Amino acid sequence: REQYGIEGWGSGYFGIDDNGNVVCHPTGEEHLSIDLPDLVEQAKENGISAPMILRFPQIIENQIARLHHAFKEAVWEYSYEGGHRAVFPFKVNQRREFIDHIVRCGSDYHYGLEVGSKPELLAAMSYNLSEKALFICNGFKDREFIETGFIAKAMGKNVVLVVEGPDELSHIIDLAKENPALCPDIGIRAKLYSRGSGKWAKSSGESSKFGLTTVEVLHCMSLLKSAGMEDRLQMLHFHIGSQVTEIKRIKNAIKEASRVFAKVTHMGFSPQFLNIGGGVGVDYDGSKTSYQSSANYSLQELANDVVYEIGEVCKREKIQAPQIVTESGRVIAAYHSIVVADIREVQSTESFSAAEGFELDFNENTNHKSLGELKYIIENINRKNYIEYYHDSIEYYEEMFTLFNLGYVNLEERALAEQMFYRICRRALYFSSFEKHVPEEFESLQQRMVSKFLANFSIFQSIPDAWSIDQLFPVMPLSHHEQKPTHKATIVDITCDSDGCLERFIDRKDFRQTLDLHSPSDRPYYLGFFLVGAYQESLANEHNLFGAINEAEVYIDEKGDWEIRKTTIGDPIEELLNTRNYDTPEILTSLSKQLESAFSEGKLPGDVKDSYQSRLEVMMAGSPYLRESNKNKYL
Ligand code: PLP
Repeated sequence: REQYGIEGWGSGYFGIDDNGNVVCHPTGEEHLSIDLPDLVEQAKENGISAPMILRFPQIIENQIARLHHAFKEAVWEYSYEGGHRAVFPFKVNQRREFIDHIVRCGSDYHYGLEVGSKPELLAAMSYNLSEKALFICNGFKDREFIETGFIAKAMGKNVVLVVEGPDELSHIIDLAKENPALCPDIGIRAKLYSRGSGKWAKSSGESSKFGLTTVEVLHCMSLLKSAGMEDRLQMLHFHIGSQVTEIKRIKNAIKEASRVFAKVTHMGFSPQFLNIGGGVGVDYDGSKTSYQSSANYSLQELANDVVYEIGEVCKREKIQAPQIVTESGRVIAAYHSIVVADIREVQSTESFSAAEGFELDFNENTNHKSLGELKYIIENINRKNYIEYYHDSIEYYEEMFTLFNLGYVNLEERALAEQMFYRICRRALYFSSFEKHVPEEFESLQQRMVSKFLANFSIFQSIPDAWSIDQLFPVMPLSHHEQKPTHKATIVDITCDSDGCLERFIDRKDFRQTLDLHSPSDRPYYLGFFLVGAYQESLANEHNLFGAINEAEVYIDEKGDWEIRKTTIGDPIEELLNTRNYDTPEILTSLSKQLESAFSEGKLPGDVKDSYQSRLEVMMAGSPYLRESNKNKYL
């Protein structure tokens, strides 16, 4: 069980019960748990089959509470005179249900929203946020975007337009001249010298694409002064990248930004908010280190450091402590969803020795000496001689292929050679596992003997970051943990793309190349891909036209009774084709015409033609993923 590291990354939300099943504690309380294999079965009864996303909105609520609580504690601990306000960055998960939930359960905390594009802006404007909640507009803006910010302000929202350059500011000043009362607060995103750490470090530092240089900051300040709009500058913002793995990077950035904030204040401005962006790391591998898929700090440590450092600079600079604004997205959203995929096939080197219902007999009369030698090795290999015998078997195996290429070996003999050679490899590997130091060649043999588990999903759709930036997510079977795993495995998806595979898995020492999996037998075997609630749905792509998968939203009550409150069917084939400009009725008409002509040419009987036609219509309205079958090819 330990190999999956669930204790480390589960964050109190996931564990394994005594029956060997993975459970979820959506409220973070251990006594309230949902058995995930049971949940998948229930979802199936409700018409939702794998692949599916299981969503636990209570986890979002809990994460929002954890974030606010951490800052509340820190503010109290350091007698900080400013406060803390959080906003959720829309881009992290734009799904309507998700944002609905964020807004609903964030209202007690005056939780706001952050947007970075026009669609996000319009969607966010439709929410009634609490009176004190902030509405932050980041990203590159044209006049239309800025004008819409004025409209949002007119609707009573606490809009802050964070400018990415003096041009944006000039538009704002122009519009403010026409309508001073409706001019939103203005923020400046500063380019810090301090850099983040981890995969997104390039979002920060002097060469980052975002933020204003010191000269540009001064330019903006002078533009505001000339327009008599000093009071509009209310926020200083920075963001040093997502998933910052080292706390010391955050501390450095905070120190630098606090100084910038203080200097701006000393120059006759009175900003209220210091917006430290997002970047709080999620401990995907549970190692609590500064590896790329981890973070070497807790939420409380982060809040303490942020509050303390800002407080210290403000004291030294003798300025009023600002309201600290956080734009954390990943740490709020990541935990709440799991992608579940059913395993459809196990491709292992055993496929060389076994095919269901088909036996190869060793033919005593075979002329080939090498085959006889391989047979001898199988019968006599042991713990003492396995290295020598393994080396010999490689030679005999290669000999058989040379003979095959010269035309002296038939297919049956070739199959026998494969069968015997892989049997020898497995036995040799078994004997090598007793060694204190496994010889290097057996480590690479182990890699060659890895099984491929075919999972019914698309990596490009469901965990795109695993493909695009090699991000690691925790992956484990939802059941079978009472048994010992039997396979060293990698995972392949059902897209026709060899990039659609997972060959890196979390490990306390960064990553490992295989995942230990079980031989699926009488029970279904589902794999769970965890902590996928942040960015994955926003970045999902429809490679091979595999679209959004089915969903089930689940809640638990204080008695421990749980229910699926909402199900959503994934994208049907027709919708996917429509997004690529196909006219699906036109396609169906074309298919029908072709069947008609086959019928009129006498190639098809009428009833078969009709049944083919209706099959095609059903398929068009159905899911692009493989249908769950009763009999999977498990080995
Ligand atoms: N704010 C800004 C400006 C961002 O660019 C991002 C993402 O990179 C975030 C907030 C959210 O960051 P995270 O999801 O790491 O908390």
